[in-house]
Amino acid sequence: MSVNLQTPIDYLKGVGPNRADLLRSELGIHTYQDLINLFPNRYIDRTKYYKINQLQRNNAEVQVIGTISNFREVAQKRGKRLVADFRDETGVMELVWFRGQKWIRDSLKTGQPYVIFGKTNWFNGKFSMPHPELELQSEHEKNLRSAMQAIYPSTEKLSNKGITNRIVTKIMQQLFLETKGQFAETLSNSVKGELKLISKSDALFNVHFPKSPELLSRAQFRLKFEELFYIQLQLVLKNLIHKSKIKGFTFNKVGDYFNTFYKQYLPFELTNAQKRVLKEIRADLGSNAQMNRLLQGDVGSGKTIVAFMSMLMGLDNEFQCCLMAPTEILSVQHYNGLLEFCKKLNINTSILTGSSNTSERKKIHENLKNGNLQILIGTHALLEDKVKFKNLGLAIIDEQHRFGVKQRSKLWKKNNLPPNVLVMTATPIPRTLAMSVYGDLDISIIDELPAGRKPIKTVHRYDNNRLKVFRFMKDEIAKGRQIYIVYPLIQESEKMDYKDLMDGYESISREFPTPDYQISIVHGKMKAADKDYEMQRFADGKTNIMVATTVIEVGVNVPNASVMIIESAERFGLSQLHQLRGRVGRGAEQSYCILMTSHKLSNDSKTRLETMVRSSDGFEIAEVDLKLRGPGDIMGTQQSGVLNLRIADIVKDKDILEQARHYAKSVLKLDPSLSLPEHKVILNTYRQMSKYRNIWNYIS
Ligand code: ADP
Ligand code: MG
Repeated sequence: MSVNLQTPIDYLKGVGPNRADLLRSELGIHTYQDLINLFPNRYIDRTKYYKINQLQRNNAEVQVIGTISNFREVAQKRGKRLVADFRDETGVMELVWFRGQKWIRDSLKTGQPYVIFGKTNWFNGKFSMPHPELELQSEHEKNLRSAMQAIYPSTEKLSNKGITNRIVTKIMQQLFLETKGQFAETLSNSVKGELKLISKSDALFNVHFPKSPELLSRAQFRLKFEELFYIQLQLVLKNLIHKSKIKGFTFNKVGDYFNTFYKQYLPFELTNAQKRVLKEIRADLGSNAQMNRLLQGDVGSGKTIVAFMSMLMGLDNEFQCCLMAPTEILSVQHYNGLLEFCKKLNINTSILTGSSNTSERKKIHENLKNGNLQILIGTHALLEDKVKFKNLGLAIIDEQHRFGVKQRSKLWKKNNLPPNVLVMTATPIPRTLAMSVYGDLDISIIDELPAGRKPIKTVHRYDNNRLKVFRFMKDEIAKGRQIYIVYPLIQESEKMDYKDLMDGYESISREFPTPDYQISIVHGKMKAADKDYEMQRFADGKTNIMVATTVIEVGVNVPNASVMIIESAERFGLSQLHQLRGRVGRGAEQSYCILMTSHKLSNDSKTRLETMVRSSDGFEIAEVDLKLRGPGDIMGTQQSGVLNLRIADIVKDKDILEQARHYAKSVLKLDPSLSLPEHKVILNTYRQMSKYRNIWNYIS
């Protein structure tokens, strides 16, 4: 009978109630299972010993053999520290303790060889090691189980309470003793065989106590694969269940609205990518499963027209449709842009935002309920309880990352059957991440910009070149172009940012005086109506320059604007910079993006700026962004299981992720209910995982 891995950690010999409490609160380790899944951060080579005269001033962890002598107490600001000399045949260094001094002094033996391990400091011409881990050399040799020593995640509190890496290692050894190192297999033989994976027991042993670097890397591969495999399995499974169980509205026919628009009013030829994506959407809408699709497309790739044509499919089947956007400006723009087409096609459409007045609202509510209103465009206002549709068949969400999960799912509930859902984003999410975050959504990608767009020329300029930039602006304005100047607005420093914006506005007003120049300004503190008024003036070409905070970030479309100047560009994230740049380059003219910064730049800022100058590919930029920031900061990932990965790394292990997805799909394709004997192990593991661990917070 093997040890039950759900046994509370308190029962493990050498743990006890105090340590158990700490392990629980600091590392979330409640059970044997949790402990076995505490994977090392890294490994060090414990067969390598340094001589004292080989130490370098790089503060790395080293292992040294020597003897202790000459304990002494040194007074310091608060209390005193204990210092001892540590000597080998090449020199002497100091060991330092700030706590536990009496115990240390009593228990350490002078004159006997010790192995010490820790980080060294260089101070006053001498190396020292604070709170070294130490062992008598004779003990050390007995305990040395593997050349590669695991270093476990820790916290300050744990090390303060004396739960050092050595203690954790000992506890881990104890766990392997009690369990005899036998752990149930969690992958099927066929998957194991095809990928030549080592067994679960071997993998766990070698990840904690590697017998060789080669076995360590096979152990890591096996465990990473397994972790990603089960996440992918769950996603693919949900997607399958969704398709078979959640019935949606079926849009059987392509009718007059769509065809008339396509033949008579479509103002341009669709790109191939747009056509492909429309086909994918059409296939979803035509099936009786609810559509749940993510449309990714770089800024300016033409998602709006795809959204509109999808809505036409809805109207052709006598359903209502809605399009929700995160800001008022954007909603208005969508509305104005589509109104023209709607008029030609005789489609009844309205806009609902926070600033719609009571009588407008009343009318909209009424017409929604009686079915007269066919397309509703708007902001979060669409989510209000009072907004009730007669038969909402398709809900489209633009710039979906701006909405929370709850908000989105509210839309789903506006019918007794969930509407078909299309979420659109211009924040390209690297494929690997998309697979994990949105693995349960189907993904369509517009990977092609409309023909004839000239690449935007992007440059980085320091603040002291401002006069040259002004001259450039004047030249462009003389050619009839319009210019955006964007200032950062970050919540925490709102006041300062606001001042920067106003100072900037003043100096630009001085440099570009009326009546020769007209300037618009838009920022978050303005009333919505005033913002719209200014935006409209700019869109109509009545002003030359738009000074703004990042409120213009999403979606705004003014094709004649060809210069984007971003102030304090070092303070923006990469995806934000890319979004902002996407505001220009929408017309036929050569467009420019100028990134203004001070001379003080962090390495990350430099990388961001260089990336912007080098690349205009949203996906490439997103990859760099992911590398710089990690998945935690990328929009949307907070809600996903990506952050809870124990051993795999979504960025570094993307090849493994792809394999895991491939195998998850092929297993389910062969055996969707996991009922083959061969897959019993997968089914059991999957059930256990969902029972003991919430591995996935579902996106919708
Ligand atoms: P985004 O994907 O960023 O939402 P939009 O839908 O706002 O992009 O489209 C950007 C601009 O490109 C709009 O002016 C739109 O009319 C235009 N556009 C879209 N598709 C095409 C196309 N196939 N050919 C030419 N212009 C297009
Ligand atoms: Mg858009």
